[in-house]
Amino acid sequence: MDISVLGHGAYGRVYKAWSNKDQKNFAVKIVGNSKKSEREVKALARLQHHNIVKYFCCWEEDNKYEQESSESSDSSTSSSTNFLYIQMELCEGGTLRDWIEAKNSTPCPARRQEARNIIEQITDGLAFIHSKKLVHRDLKPENIFFEEQKIKIKIGDFGLVKNIALNTDESPPEGHESFGTPTYMSPEQKSGGLYGKKADIFALGLIFFELLWTLQTQMEKYTIWTDLRDQMFPEHFNVQFPPECKLIKMMLCKKTKKRPGAAGLLTEIKKLY
Ligand code: ATP
Ligand code: MG
Repeated sequence: MDISVLGHGAYGRVYKAWSNKDQKNFAVKIVGNSKKSEREVKALARLQHHNIVKYFCCWEEDNKYEQESSESSDSSTSSSTNFLYIQMELCEGGTLRDWIEAKNSTPCPARRQEARNIIEQITDGLAFIHSKKLVHRDLKPENIFFEEQKIKIKIGDFGLVKNIALNTDESPPEGHESFGTPTYMSPEQKSGGLYGKKADIFALGLIFFELLWTLQTQMEKYTIWTDLRDQMFPEHFNVQFPPECKLIKMMLCKKTKKRPGAAGLLTEIKKLY
């Protein structure tokens, strides 16, 4: 059987695996069997959308994939007695982080148009997630994938997905778990208060900016990021990208009510040139 590691994150490891039965490759994510992984699977099963990584099935096993036995395991799974194998669509076009890095190293005249197409697709997927009363909570370029032809975008990694109560758009953080990735975290998520769909919109605003603007160094990213979180943009950003700047500014509002919803945002993005 042809199996290779695609990547690994905080909780699991993802493999590319060939299925003889289907005569095609899949991505299989192996995570410790826990409430968190159950939540990920339940969410994926509800989310059938062309901009979301497609889920096929899952099964439990007592062991991690055997190649791993000689490797060090991370602390979150080492205490688990069994593992959940999540079979998903394989996205072979890399992550959005790879796209950003490629554009930052080689100037691309079509970047603006491509950025708009990408953000439209992410917003489409996100509007669907929100319509199902779910919040992704860890939107970042590393969790957004391209399928093989690099045209279609797929939101992935639902490891932090959360169901929001029916009557409210916000829910409190849980226990002492630390959620999300600090760089893309909304202010309300960072401060440990109530947060919901609008936290995903904040992360999306930062991603939109990153798709358009070249950040050469980590230091530059740090400085600009700090300003961005206060709705302050680099000097020429507004001049070069006026309509995008207006949208991103709204997405980064500190007040959640002032941030647009995903469905409304999608309409606005479609109006962009
Ligand atoms: P969690 O946030 O639950 O800890 P994780 O970060 O460990 O999740 P993922 O983000 O789902 O796990 O996957 C880790 C890496 O595996 C990704 O960055 C990517 O490189 C690769 N990967 C994940 N899913 C796919 C997929 N469907 N197709 C191709 N590569 C994938
Ligand atoms: Mg991830």
